[in-house]
Amino acid sequence: MSHLLHRNLKATYPVAVGGKGVTLIDADGRSYIDASGGAAVSCLGHGHPDILAAMHAQIDKLAYAHTSFFTSDPAEELADHLIAHAPKGLSNVFICSSGSEAIEACLKLARHYFIETGQTRRTHFISRRQSYHGITVGALSVGGRMKDRAPFKEMLLAGHHIAPCHAYRGQHTDETPEAYGLRMADELEAKILELGSDTVAAFVAETVVGATLGASPPAPGYFRRIREICDRHGVLLILDEVMCGMGRTGSLHACEQEGIAPDLMAIAKGLGAGYAPIGAMLASGRIVEAVRQGSGAFPHSQTYNGHPLACAAALAVQQVIARDDLLANVRLQGAHLERRLKERFGNHHHVGDIRGRGHFWGIELVADRTSKTPFDAGLKLNARIKQAAMARGLLVYPMGGTADGVRGDHVLLAPPFIADAAVMDTIVERLGEAVDAAIADAV
Ligand code: PLP
Repeated sequence: MSHLLHRNLKATYPVAVGGKGVTLIDADGRSYIDASGGAAVSCLGHGHPDILAAMHAQIDKLAYAHTSFFTSDPAEELADHLIAHAPKGLSNVFICSSGSEAIEACLKLARHYFIETGQTRRTHFISRRQSYHGITVGALSVGGRMKDRAPFKEMLLAGHHIAPCHAYRGQHTDETPEAYGLRMADELEAKILELGSDTVAAFVAETVVGATLGASPPAPGYFRRIREICDRHGVLLILDEVMCGMGRTGSLHACEQEGIAPDLMAIAKGLGAGYAPIGAMLASGRIVEAVRQGSGAFPHSQTYNGHPLACAAALAVQQVIARDDLLANVRLQGAHLERRLKERFGNHHHVGDIRGRGHFWGIELVADRTSKTPFDAGLKLNARIKQAAMARGLLVYPMGGTADGVRGDHVLLAPPFIADAAVMDTIVERLGEAVDAAIADAV
């Protein structure tokens, strides 16, 4: 019996032993096309020689130095690279080891900024229902997925939630996408006014919602109105681009496509592409200057901040993406994937919605397309699809049941940026077989 505390103690897991390009290999010699990069992590695929070379070179020099004594070249160069390509106004980078830690840092720096500027009443964070921002207590407190929160509710900070902007389930039939976006954004202003506008610290949202809603992009104009509302009330905007950022949607940051920049932004997964555990917070110059003029310090540090080996890996990942113009490939092959998904599933009786951007797509499965009725959660359709896909040599990221009573099962696709048209075709072919087999098995 394994001594690892696996995420499901009743399950047995195949042993991953190798990977090359878009393929992962297990100990029994089975190979899988990695069409989800785990949870949208492995954006360069596996065993990329340039990343391995950069990591070897760094570890030969220095694996680790504590940030209370030293800075390091890879951490400084990574910060320079990230800021050179950052949304407008972002000037400084805090480097940690995961997405949850990046969100935690955003929440803490937001609060610290208001203490530094004498706005001490600003303690409230507003976020959205059905959201996931990580597993640590602060991140879970802003998270809006009730089933994640329920077991720990006595430990959580007070959180305030508004509706997500999720057109498939929320847009009225007589409403334009633009009108829907404004209606949803205005929920933020109503919540700020309800709480008292001088008591709200920040609004937290994923630019394109990943795991919980299955690659759900915002309605047009939603984030522009959100930005205006935040500015009007002195509320900071924290964007969670842990999953949707770093090129996944076809631009380096998903918010570029919304025409806005946040005050604080969390990135992770694609930052290091799985070659090392790394996450980061990008902070606006205005916030950092206030801290510099005030106490001069952000009292929030961890042992592995700015880890040199992790930074060298992430820097190499970002340099390869820029050098090989992989975002152009994401846009090109993303459009191909969209076409193929729509051909295969557009008229499928049990596919209610196909949505996404770039190399980030979700298909939502429903018992009935017209009423959008989800499958019975007890059927565990998403788990069946995962197994049926693995049996066909395909890794996808299904989620669902009817958590919070409002959505059906969905499957998330997040293929690596190096995938070509032939890989996309095989992904769609295997996924189609897996979906049909899982539904036939379940009903
Ligand atoms: N935010 C979002 C949107 C995520 O999808 C995740 C992880 O799935 C996190 C935060 C937390 O990241 P991590 O699992 O690296 O702590």
